[in-house]
Amino acid sequence: MRAVTDLEPAERVEQLRATIRRHNDAYYLDDAPEIPDADYDALVRELQQLEEQFPELITPDSPTQVVSGSASTAFAPVVHRVPMMSLDNAFSAEELDAWGGRLARRLADLGESGGSVGLVAELKIDGLAMSLRYEGGTLVQAATRGDGRIGEDVTANVRTISVIPHTLPKGAPEVLEVRGEIYMPIAVFEALNRAQVEAGLRTYANPRNTAAGSLRQKDPSITASRELAFWSYQLGEVEGGPTLTAHHETFEFLASLGFPVNPEVTVLDGLAAADAHCRGWQDRRHDLAYEIDGVVLKVDDLALQRELGFTSKAPRWAIAYKFPPEERTTKLLDIMVSVGRTGRATPFGRLEPVFVGGSTVGVATLHNQDQVKAKDVRPGDTVIVRKAGDVIPEIVGPVLAERPKGLPEWVFPTECPVCGHALVRPEGEADTRCPNISCPARVAGTIEHFASRGAMDIEGLGEQRVRLFCQMGLVADVADVYSLTAEQLSGIEGFGEVSINNLLSAIDASREQPLAKLLVGLNVRHMGPAASVALATHFGHLDRIEAATEEELAAVEGVGPTIASAVREWFADDSNRAVVQKLRDAGVNMVGPDAPELPQNLVGLSVVVTGTLDGFTRDEAEAAIKGRGGKSPGSVSKKTTAVVVGNEPGASKLTKAEDLGVPILDEVGFRHLLDTGELPPGAVPAGDAPAEG
Ligand code: NAD
Repeated sequence: MRAVTDLEPAERVEQLRATIRRHNDAYYLDDAPEIPDADYDALVRELQQLEEQFPELITPDSPTQVVSGSASTAFAPVVHRVPMMSLDNAFSAEELDAWGGRLARRLADLGESGGSVGLVAELKIDGLAMSLRYEGGTLVQAATRGDGRIGEDVTANVRTISVIPHTLPKGAPEVLEVRGEIYMPIAVFEALNRAQVEAGLRTYANPRNTAAGSLRQKDPSITASRELAFWSYQLGEVEGGPTLTAHHETFEFLASLGFPVNPEVTVLDGLAAADAHCRGWQDRRHDLAYEIDGVVLKVDDLALQRELGFTSKAPRWAIAYKFPPEERTTKLLDIMVSVGRTGRATPFGRLEPVFVGGSTVGVATLHNQDQVKAKDVRPGDTVIVRKAGDVIPEIVGPVLAERPKGLPEWVFPTECPVCGHALVRPEGEADTRCPNISCPARVAGTIEHFASRGAMDIEGLGEQRVRLFCQMGLVADVADVYSLTAEQLSGIEGFGEVSINNLLSAIDASREQPLAKLLVGLNVRHMGPAASVALATHFGHLDRIEAATEEELAAVEGVGPTIASAVREWFADDSNRAVVQKLRDAGVNMVGPDAPELPQNLVGLSVVVTGTLDGFTRDEAEAAIKGRGGKSPGSVSKKTTAVVVGNEPGASKLTKAEDLGVPILDEVGFRHLLDTGELPPGAVPAGDAPAEG
């Protein structure tokens, strides 16, 4: 086979067209794409560029010239009286501007001024296009887009979607075609995949293709079981009814007839506002309960839309601004298993590095044994990697078409890769664990956790040093940290006098940490900072917690039976009790309550924290708020009193706070709020700033 670079342009064009058509069939007919959308878009892009360079190679049936997709013979054909078109795409601000330039020139040719043409911005819902036909107010036909002219009759299936009206109110047009997007809400998709994993079946790749697959079923009862949803956004053929002059009126009209209309539709004053609007949604896309892959901009004036018309494929009056991809393909080099401080053995993939979702990804999680099985990924596969928002990257599944012949299935190890102890998977649990509490991976993880900011906060004792000290045999449990000496550390690479002193004084200072922090550091299963504070405050001494019965522990507000049983189990272990004794001997504080009585000055207030602060860990900031009677939820809403913003804040929280006019505080402002229960002067929402004079 010759390399792509050796091909003549005409040959490459033919090759690309054949590949794109094959992917169109997999996507539109089988609802099972082999490659991520970004890879598909790159193929189309390459074809477009070649056709621009060599216009003589353009043919009317090229995928760049026609609506992609076709109608399967499995369904009766439906002729669309008003064609269902595709959309042109812009992948960057520059491409959006270029579209704006073309639009302005066309409008100028039509004698209109293009600069401030009114636009409507809509979310680009990642589902499948649907045309619903009503005659005399009754749903008579539902059809997919197909090739744009001929779609597939899926009426029986669409009738099972509860949000789609079967009849319209009196006064509805005699003939009405409503166009919109059928989609699967993310929660429905995730529940479906959980059920697949439980049943030992292969998981679905993404909500879009699962929605399409659920809809294009021979048996409508399958569609009915999938809880599909619908947003309407356009009209097709209409006879009768009101005369609309602007696209934004379509939404009011559709809503009045009982169709679901997406609330996030915005009328924009020209293209200048569009770029920021699109990028705003790019940051907030994961705040929605459904997936979107971009923003669609449409000229609002319907008369102008008619004048601008269509290319053979798409309207000239609209453009889809597509977000950067969150899914890419890469090679899965190996599957490995890491063991954490709780002994949990987590499989993860080592990848050929790939830039996705805004960063380069070299490892991605596979969660647990069942997930690897359900996804059936094997070392040597080409895999789809997904990195969405702040979520850790994950492997979605293999590209089966590219699997080398005879690639063996990956088998979950039976022994701990670190200590060699047999791994166990308790009946009914998803996680596999290394039960050996002396496993070096568990020991190192436990000491790292003990020294972390949320626990004993020993600066200078991070992952690397803990591992090194473990390997050197200097520490074997958390209490050994307190017997480290300057002699032991001197001579180790990277340890000069200053850093030895710093580390030893940080260790020494940690002896005075409050009891709640020590409890966090002991690494009791299920026990987080809130339960630790509750136990420390209630019992006042580690000895009393150790002596308490399960019932007494469970009776403490904020503790409950699961944590109570975990605490009992922890203290029942001889080696854990020996560690406590060593800590006692080392002079570590065991007395509570952990904090002085705090003023209850934040009761009724809701304070969201985003980004890292210098003087508080995330847990400490939340504890400071909650300890004063306030709430500290994970997301911003109208009810939020203030958003505390540290370094590298979450963009979506920040934008939402700005949109809602919620006051934003820095760390100094936050301390003021904690001390006084009042917002610092000046921290008022922009819109509420007092007038001058
Ligand atoms: P498109 O998806 O870029 O845009 C057109 C479609 O957007 C419409 O048909 C409609 O269904 C949808 N849409 C969502 N919200 C809308 C709104 N508010 N207003 C109007 N339309 C809205 O173009 P296309 O031609 O349908 O499909 C091409 C895209 O499909 C590719 O860019 C790729 O993402 C995907 N695809 C992927 C593969 C693959 O193998 N992975 C194959 C074929 C197509």
